[in-house]
Amino acid sequence: MLRRFTKLLQFNQCQRILSCASLSSSSMSEGKFKLADKYKGLETNVWVEFIQLALEQKPLNLGQGFPDFAAPDHVTKSLADVATGENLLMNQYTRGYGHPRLVQALASFYGKLVGRSLDPYKNILVGAGAYEALFCGIMSTVNGGDEVIIIEPFFDCYEPMVRLAGGTPVFIPLKPKGDESTSENWVLDEEELRSKFTSKTKAIIINTPHNPLGKIFNRAELQVIADLCIQHDVLCMSDEVYEWLVYAPNEHVRIATLPGMWERTITVGSAGKTFSVTGWKLGWAYGPENLIKNLGIAHQNCVYTCSTPLQEACARGFELEMSRFGTPDCYFQSLAAELLPKRDYMAKFLSENGMKPVVPQGGYFMVANWTELEKYSDLSQEPDPLKDYKFVKWLSKTKKLQGIPPSAFYSKEHKRLGENYIRFCFIKQDSNLKKADEILTKWKSER
Ligand code: PMP
Ligand code: GLN
Repeated sequence: MLRRFTKLLQFNQCQRILSCASLSSSSMSEGKFKLADKYKGLETNVWVEFIQLALEQKPLNLGQGFPDFAAPDHVTKSLADVATGENLLMNQYTRGYGHPRLVQALASFYGKLVGRSLDPYKNILVGAGAYEALFCGIMSTVNGGDEVIIIEPFFDCYEPMVRLAGGTPVFIPLKPKGDESTSENWVLDEEELRSKFTSKTKAIIINTPHNPLGKIFNRAELQVIADLCIQHDVLCMSDEVYEWLVYAPNEHVRIATLPGMWERTITVGSAGKTFSVTGWKLGWAYGPENLIKNLGIAHQNCVYTCSTPLQEACARGFELEMSRFGTPDCYFQSLAAELLPKRDYMAKFLSENGMKPVVPQGGYFMVANWTELEKYSDLSQEPDPLKDYKFVKWLSKTKKLQGIPPSAFYSKEHKRLGENYIRFCFIKQDSNLKKADEILTKWKSER
């Protein structure tokens, strides 16, 4: 009797599940559960695609930018101490706009760098990576119909963020002037840039040192942009996440320090890049109080607050590095010194093996022209319409070496400008760079 009752119960449950399933599939077919319109066209993402490819192919991964060596000891040790220390509140929520100790450290540090006194509670916003700081910057300032100038190639999230905010991206490419083998020669055409500023221009996004080219905009180039911003009353979003990765004799100039620019500039930084802890996804924006207040409104309606222990550990990291700033022991200086020979080694082995690298002035990426190698590759099996996508996939699958296709950093109309290149990341152990060299050298010997 009991068994029959249980069976009946199970049968009834099955019926209910089946009728729910048919109900949900019929309502789904009405389109209620389709992707929201604002995300249409944004379904694919270069990182999702190429991180998956790396998981499947297990190549030597010089694609996504992250160090494959340890972060400074004091930074990771601080995190362990914070998480297990006596102050139990360090594992609980902290102030939404930024953990007090971190905003104090950031205000004191960047205050010196930009030559003004910064209020930790008014001039700084901490976000979930530079990504979220950029998102808040764009969301809180761009209205429907506003135009935002984006310099190509660009870190890929700028375009979708501007579109999500209802804005219209207006693109202008950096183009090589003469010899394309150094990022210095990739420049904006001043007249073309001037023509992009209209009465609808709300903002321009700049990135220096630049991903993927490694270009460092010099003072004169920044002055041209600043003059146009001031003339047209335009806001400047300056993505400076690679601010410490600068190779001599180049110098990182903060556009916020040019006359008349502080009032209209939001500068973005990243703990991931600063301390080689990309997995921490902690970033910040600093700027004038009125703009930072707006970013805070976007932030409190998005993630609201970021991880407390990460912020506390990052604050302690800044405090220590500030005390030795300007000395060779400071991580901000020593990391660039460590990366310089890696950059030069990569440029050498890419050149020796048939590619033409663009030697970067900063950052940790190198873009290289691979077209000489096309005749030795079989790209016919790769269905992608863009040649760099085909080549990067073929190289990952066949030679077990992975990069990133630079056309992902161009607008739809200009993707062809990126097709002849591949981007590699060189913040890697020497042994892994050597492996990349060996892969390419072996391939050369076989052809
Ligand atoms: N801007 C640029 C130019 C980048 O390369 C990256 C990649 N990390 C970001 C922003 C995002 O930084 P985060 O990881 O701190 O979100
Ligand atoms: N900035 C890194 C790169 O360009 C990471 C990108 C990402 O994680 N979205 O490779």
